[in-house]
Amino acid sequence: MVSSDQLPKTYDFANVEKRWLGRWRDSDFYFVPDSKKPRFVIDTPPPYPTGSFHIGNALNWCYIDFFARYKRMRGFNVMFPQGWDCHGLPTEVKVEEINKITKNDVSREEFRRLCRELTLNNIRKMRQTLRTMAFSVDWSNEYITMNPEYFKKTQLSFLRMLESGYIYQSEHPVNFCTRCETAIAFAEVTYDERSTRLNYFDFDGMEIATTRPELLAACVAVAVHPNDQRYHHLKGRTLRVPIFSHPVPVVQDEAVDPSFGSGAVMICTFGDKQDVHWWKQHNLSLRKAIDRRGRMTALAAKYDGMTAAECRTAILADMKAANILKKQEDLDQRVGACWRCKTPIEILSERQWFVKIKPGEILDAAHQIRWYPEHMLRRMENWVGQMEWDWCISRQRIFATPIPVWFCRKCGEMVVPDEKDLPVDPTLTQPDHACPGCGNTEFIGEEDVLDTWMDSSISVLNVTGWDGSGTPGIFPAQIRPQGHDIIRTWAFYTILRAVALTGQRPWDQILINGMVLGEDGFKMSKSRGNIIVPEEILSKYGADALRQWAATGAAMGSDIMFNWNDVIAASRFQTKMWNIARFVLLQLEKEGVDKNIQVTALADRWLLTRLSDTVAKVTEAMDQYQFDTALKTIREFAWDVLADNYIELVKGRLYAKDASRKSACLVLHTAYDSICRMLAPFTPYFADECYSYLNSESVHHQQWVTFTYDDPQALLEGDILSKVVAEVRKFKHDSGLALNAPLGRVTIYTPHTILDEGDMSRTLNADVQWRTDSARLDRVVTDIEFNRSVVGPAFKKQSQAFMKAIRILIPEQLLNPPATINLEGTEFAVPENAFTPRFSYMEGGEMVDVVSVAGVIVTIQRSA
Ligand SMILES: [Zn+2]
Ligand SMILES: [Zn+2]
Repeated sequence: MVSSDQLPKTYDFANVEKRWLGRWRDSDFYFVPDSKKPRFVIDTPPPYPTGSFHIGNALNWCYIDFFARYKRMRGFNVMFPQGWDCHGLPTEVKVEEINKITKNDVSREEFRRLCRELTLNNIRKMRQTLRTMAFSVDWSNEYITMNPEYFKKTQLSFLRMLESGYIYQSEHPVNFCTRCETAIAFAEVTYDERSTRLNYFDFDGMEIATTRPELLAACVAVAVHPNDQRYHHLKGRTLRVPIFSHPVPVVQDEAVDPSFGSGAVMICTFGDKQDVHWWKQHNLSLRKAIDRRGRMTALAAKYDGMTAAECRTAILADMKAANILKKQEDLDQRVGACWRCKTPIEILSERQWFVKIKPGEILDAAHQIRWYPEHMLRRMENWVGQMEWDWCISRQRIFATPIPVWFCRKCGEMVVPDEKDLPVDPTLTQPDHACPGCGNTEFIGEEDVLDTWMDSSISVLNVTGWDGSGTPGIFPAQIRPQGHDIIRTWAFYTILRAVALTGQRPWDQILINGMVLGEDGFKMSKSRGNIIVPEEILSKYGADALRQWAATGAAMGSDIMFNWNDVIAASRFQTKMWNIARFVLLQLEKEGVDKNIQVTALADRWLLTRLSDTVAKVTEAMDQYQFDTALKTIREFAWDVLADNYIELVKGRLYAKDASRKSACLVLHTAYDSICRMLAPFTPYFADECYSYLNSESVHHQQWVTFTYDDPQALLEGDILSKVVAEVRKFKHDSGLALNAPLGRVTIYTPHTILDEGDMSRTLNADVQWRTDSARLDRVVTDIEFNRSVVGPAFKKQSQAFMKAIRILIPEQLLNPPATINLEGTEFAVPENAFTPRFSYMEGGEMVDVVSVAGVIVTIQRSA
């Protein structure tokens, strides 16, 4: 044990954190494949390598680290892997920005190289933050999705799902961002409220209202409600599209709202999802008027080459000139936009690759997973319930996993690589065998790449060691921790892929965390200026304070508003706890701890029962991922029970070198050791520092606390003892007495005898008597305080007479004053709040102060 005089007076987090970071070894946190311990595999989210770990990530990783460390202490073989989800648009956009190019300005290879370089630099920076925050990551299980060993697995999973019919290609309408020039999935569409104009125009004698006149060239039908009398005569008719003159049928459909606009709508390929639905329903033709770059096609005749917006202006002007534009109204509309660049999406029909969505099997698997908090399962059910289209997985971008497929240049037959040849980039290599269809040896490599969720949705398969040769022995994983914002993407896609590739659920449990909001209660954003970066907290208060904030900020699953006061409170707790440590260690050092002695003193037994309760409550909370409850319970025990009550109670014994000192030392040792171990998952630096003075081995190699102590009588009596002491100490303080000043006699009236071994007497520096009879107290009035502002106006010249009359009332009348009072023959009403009696108590003829604590009467006879 290190000598306590080596303990600095104040806790210097910066120094301590730096020291321990240098001492911890990565190998301490490695998953051991051949271990006999029960395993606990975590499917950690692979963050997008933006270069900075934001506060939402920090919260997420704090939660993961709390339970990873806890499970290790509970004897589990824990895998806390760390992945990096590299591919995708944001990096491409960043590379375009930094180098002032578009993806088409350089070769695909060069563009990929720039993306990889940027990504690796960003990963390097983020690794450092993970270390500084003391996350016990298993670096032997790190993965980077852009590396060949990972995207080989993504390609393998693609081929397996292609083979089993889960993946197919087809020409189908998809959401398309014309700025990013790629298809995107429904989960990547965000909806914004925008104001637009509803244009009424003459459509071959019918009035039609549309917000998108530029789609006129893509009009394939006009739809009306079957019960709409106004249009009965048009049934089966053909109309001519204004300006373009191509003929379109009139169709009837229940989904048309007769009260919107004129009750007739034009169906275009494609204005929105409803158009897609009608197009399929009525088997309509396909007219592509907008291309992948958002320009009008040749089909738009004279508008060919214009942007959609230019075309809209031009068509409206032409309608006006032709006198067919009837009126225009302002309209608020929900518009789908690209999640990345906010450009309104188009729905374009393209040859794309899709993954079949089978809602039934996804829900079955989702129901086999335990959801924390439970209600988050509803979100998954709702999302699956509204699935209409399959998952579009092809992207027309570059920095992503290539789709491992070629097409025969002659007959168009699709050819896939041998699994042993993966990974491949079909745009750079050719198949090593001829076309099985026609024997031709020339192929076109698929240029489309995979949606980045195709990479990250096999994270759990990757960390459990899936290589296509069967279901891994350690699959499914035990837990998936993630934010509620990606339930419909990452959680959904992972379940889908796990079921498709293994027939099983991916994990036993899923833990959903909330988002971090700014101090103003709004989502953090640059424009609001409410962004808090972890580095700022780390430099001011340290990692342990930030981690405590994460634990206590909110219940699991709830959004958490950032608050500097919580961080400051966390830092104060460390200061308080450091003072406790210095005191305890000094006591333990005086004479070693004798672990074989019998604990008999009431205060000691009481502290052990409170510790036992604390351990039980904290353990239960940790098992349920209720980190706020767990840490608050530890803090209350350390601060209120141990420091403010127990240590005050036994200080006298510790100083007096009484024989019962050893018992108090053993209790202090037990409590201190337990607190260090319970704090280890939350404040790894602080806990290791405190524990190092007790034991040369790291607290992070210790078992979780299993201490139990059952003594209901000690709990009951000890609560009375500690409460009385606290109240009498408060009395001393309020009376202006020093806490160690002599206090005379203190008598406590309790229903049965309590033996406190003199602890109370020493603590209060008083002659303490415990009595089981009831207190015999006489109440005497020692003073009456008059309220001059009430008495003066009410009694004027007779004020003195009034006060005299009140002073001679008996105590009961002072407490319940009469309604009127007679002053020199006249009855006066007694006003409210005219006076307040001051009482004192006499006990056995002596003046005493009386304190009542939890139903127990305590009398204090000062300087007896
Ligand atoms: Zn976009
Ligand atoms: Zn062929």
